[in-house]
Amino acid sequence: MDFELTPEQKAFREILRAFVEKEILPVAIEWEHAGRYPTEIIEKMKQMGLFGLSVPEEYGGMGADMVSFALVFEEIARGWMGVAGTIGSHSLACWMIARHGTDEQKRHYLPDLAGGVRRTAIALTEPGAGTDLQGIRTRAVRDGDVYVVSGTKTWITNARHADPLPVLVKTSITEPAHKGMSVLLVDPALDGFSVGRDLPKLGYKGTETCEVTLDEVRVPVSAVLGGVEGRGLQQVLGGLELGRINIAARAVGVAQAAYDAALAYARERTAFGQPIAEFQAIQLKLADLATEIQAARLLTYWAAAQADGGKRVDMEAGMAKYFASEVALRASLESMRIHGGYGYSQEFVVERLYRDAPLMAIGEGTNDVQRMVIARALISGKGKLGW
Ligand SMILES: Cc1cc2nc3c(=O)[nH]c(=O)nc-3n(C[C@H](O)[C@H](O)[C@H](O)COP(=O)(O)OP(=O)(O)OC[C@H]3O[C@@H](n4cnc5c(N)ncnc54)[C@H](O)[C@@H]3O)c2cc1C
Repeated sequence: MDFELTPEQKAFREILRAFVEKEILPVAIEWEHAGRYPTEIIEKMKQMGLFGLSVPEEYGGMGADMVSFALVFEEIARGWMGVAGTIGSHSLACWMIARHGTDEQKRHYLPDLAGGVRRTAIALTEPGAGTDLQGIRTRAVRDGDVYVVSGTKTWITNARHADPLPVLVKTSITEPAHKGMSVLLVDPALDGFSVGRDLPKLGYKGTETCEVTLDEVRVPVSAVLGGVEGRGLQQVLGGLELGRINIAARAVGVAQAAYDAALAYARERTAFGQPIAEFQAIQLKLADLATEIQAARLLTYWAAAQADGGKRVDMEAGMAKYFASEVALRASLESMRIHGGYGYSQEFVVERLYRDAPLMAIGEGTNDVQRMVIARALISGKGKLGW
């Protein structure tokens, strides 16, 4: 058994760390509180090829393995989780286009998406349906060589920058849900398509999350992902495995940042004539955090490595996302406690980590849903523990 990253993965992580140290950490607190969009950081990420993470090399992307993919989200989230969000749903949508798109769709979109010349996102959730994707109401009704699409999507991250925006729709209401849904690659310039307000959020600032309305948008039939109607739900559910590794890795990054801040503060802050790191109560917290974070990281890399081995990883990705996000929640709170009153200050990083952490317990399927996914895999016998 080998727990080492490959030399290439280590070198890649060093590049990412240097980028985070130089470009993200110095501005994250200020830009977060100013509500500033991280344009300059995104431009650098384009130059680094990070918008092409999940785009195959033949289309100009990085075609990164899943462990390297996890390293990107871990390291960037360690700096600023909101910035990780700008390539999160983008990478998921690129992966779906690369995996399921027609040759024409791949040739048309992937090279520009790889360079960040175009960006994308993913629109699944609706005001009345999140976990229950089969309950979506956005309808696409065939009219000759177009679909007429009407409906509302909500909580769509990167919506304002997405071109195309992959939208999950119902192409049939008579078929069972798993056969009646499709993903349409919607051109935002079409009449009737509009991105509404930015939703006010607790954290995850730095990237927009919006409502999207489709009002009788006439979408060409050629925009069906993969060219065949009725495969949307399977296409989306397959992509969520990658999405959950992404979220697990972000959670590890946030938890690591909380721990790093706590350790540095505990060494520096004195009380009763000694650094608070000398108090056993603080040491026990640090030991718990370090142990849990390392366990979350192992689970995340394990899920990623299993995916690289070509396996379906519903259970592994679910476990990683569930565990790592709960660790991020605990780590940000414990780090705040170690910081005392300063943990509550907007001038210290911990309050942002504390506001960012809960998203990882909700996004890409709530943690209760992950637990159901894990349980289903175990009960069916498909999910195996150990090696
Ligand atoms: C900041 C942010 C960004 C997001 N970005 C995107 C995006 O880019 N694209 C996108 O499509 N969506 C996005 N989402 C939406 C996100 O994926 C959903 O919020 C999430 O899937 C949960 O759906 P919901 O909010 O409708 O909650 P619901 O599905 O209504 O769930 C409410 C509660 O009921 C529980 N529940 C639901 N069903 C069951 C069940 N069968 N058994 C037991 N408990 C159940 C849930 O666990 C939860 O506790 C984003 C959300 C946030 C907050």
